[in-house]
Amino acid sequence: ENNLCDSKSVETLKNDNNECSDNIKYPHSQEMINLFRNKFKLSKFRPNQLQAINATMLQFDCFILMPTGGGKSLCYQLPALLSTGITIVVSPLKSLILDQTQKLSSLNIPAAHLSGTLTIDQTEAIYSQLSKENPILKLLYVTPEKLSVSQRLCNSLKTLYERRQLARFVIDEAHCVSQWGHDFRQDYKKLRELRRNYSTVPIMALTATATPRVRTDILCQLGLTSPKWFISSFNRPNLRYSIINKSHKNSSDEVIGLIKIKFKNDCGIIYCLSRKDCDDYARQMKMNGIKALSYHAGLTDKQRTEIQNQWISEKIKVVCATIAFGMGIDKPNVRFVIHAILPKSIEGYYQESGRAGRDSKSAECILFYNYKDMYRHKRMIETDAASNKNTQKIHIDNLKQMVSFCENTSDCRRALQLNYFGEVFNRKFCISNKETACDNCRNQGQFHNLNITEDAKALVTIVQDLTKNNRLTVLQIVEIYKGNSLTKMKDSGYDKHRFYGKGKSLAEHDIERLLHKLVIENYLEETMYVNNEITYAYLKLGSNAKILMTSSTLKLYLQIRKTIDNSSARATVSAVLLADNKALTEIQQRCYTELVQIIRGLANGLNI
Ligand code: ADP
Ligand code: MG
Ligand code: ZN
Repeated sequence: ENNLCDSKSVETLKNDNNECSDNIKYPHSQEMINLFRNKFKLSKFRPNQLQAINATMLQFDCFILMPTGGGKSLCYQLPALLSTGITIVVSPLKSLILDQTQKLSSLNIPAAHLSGTLTIDQTEAIYSQLSKENPILKLLYVTPEKLSVSQRLCNSLKTLYERRQLARFVIDEAHCVSQWGHDFRQDYKKLRELRRNYSTVPIMALTATATPRVRTDILCQLGLTSPKWFISSFNRPNLRYSIINKSHKNSSDEVIGLIKIKFKNDCGIIYCLSRKDCDDYARQMKMNGIKALSYHAGLTDKQRTEIQNQWISEKIKVVCATIAFGMGIDKPNVRFVIHAILPKSIEGYYQESGRAGRDSKSAECILFYNYKDMYRHKRMIETDAASNKNTQKIHIDNLKQMVSFCENTSDCRRALQLNYFGEVFNRKFCISNKETACDNCRNQGQFHNLNITEDAKALVTIVQDLTKNNRLTVLQIVEIYKGNSLTKMKDSGYDKHRFYGKGKSLAEHDIERLLHKLVIENYLEETMYVNNEITYAYLKLGSNAKILMTSSTLKLYLQIRKTIDNSSARATVSAVLLADNKALTEIQQRCYTELVQIIRGLANGLNI
């Protein structure tokens, strides 16, 4: 019996059902196995598939959470064939719908969609099916917009319902119903009426990404009071996560260098923020002999499909894209996803980086991080006319969590992401896999946790004292605390402050990181100011400043890279830098010059 289940691939987390076990002795079971093998041509159920199919066949509402590629579609496609009547599938994108109906047609499964691309005849044929006493059609895909505007469709559904030919409603990509999610769609909200209007029809909601907050919201928005839950682990064991600090806003040199060395003939995605960034990246890639194209919302539907096809067929290797790229694209052998820009949220990051390695072979997810990218996002959020104060706050919160994920140099990246989804993850499963351990698990021991509570208080005091009449940026505060003797310091009298130079022992970079931390945790706040297209951020006190200054128990820590405080390393570096290279050949000299630059960079990074 258990031959049917493939229990190895993904762990099952929650399965709160005794009734809907992996039993195969239900009235539907024999035919189900038959269709599974002969129609879908599959041999083993993935975790939760069989259980979910049983649950919906027993008329329970179901809530199915599985990572993308986990096999959600089967959970409703197989029951659709087993049930009397038609299954209505709500899906957010025309491209997703076309993809699904084509796959089903190729398996000889009667499925259709109602979308603008149909001819009048095709549309009439579908409506005629809906009015038949025993329709042959088994699955009908619709967008939520169609469902909410088409009176004709609603009438058809009503008569189907009255004739008991409405098998179930399926809400795919159900996170679109939630404002807290990363992909909110207004018309998904109206899906609540399904439960009200068709009270006896079972509903199945499916999603690949949901924080606990989004999960609760989905059920609440859809009016599902007691569904059966099916949650699979969201860990992607074959993905290797790492974060690289990029030195400046434009990191194309670093990204291109990395691709040339590491991913020479591989397919991948580079996520950029703006259309212009995508174009710039693609252009520079091409100049460097990498087959790349740019993809964003500024292109026509036709152009975008063309680019997708070229990439899927590997005529081009790299797509430089905004986050508009990827949803519904199922390319198995994506070897790398590079974020050239800070993602908007941890959820978005998980989703975008998750497009790598669908074939289960190892793949890399590399994020090029610079704190200043947050300003670009913040500006976009604050100038977005479509959002109100409330949604702005959600977006800023998401962004701050993403920044703190990037600034974290000690915790396991997998654990951080999975905890965000409410999943408990034991770090040892990351560390133990040599090939795919995350950067923080690899670098363990290189950082130590420094109690910086007093430094934090000093910095907050500096901000409090000096920003009454002046505007100060993060870098200016760094200079004051470090005690840099710039003329500007003297002119403005900053060098008279009692904490001037008190942070001498810290590296400037770490003082900067500490200030970022204080902003992210609301001890300080940044006000944005745009002048000539350049964004300035000024510091002021944040809502938690008072707590920090008055609490005697609150302690703050910062992970600091252990300095290689050894004079021999320093001596070696100086020896290399000062070496007499006259004896070298011309080629050796050129190599030497490059090496010196590399060593300088390394020595800087290691504080030597
Ligand atoms: P999701 O909607 O969860 O992202 P899909 O339903 O699109 O995932 O399935 C992803 C891929 O996995 C599809 O190619 C599908 O055919 C395949 N698949 C689904 N279930 C199984 C199974 N039990 N055995 C083998 N392949 C499966
Ligand atoms: Mg799907
Ligand atoms: Zn890890």
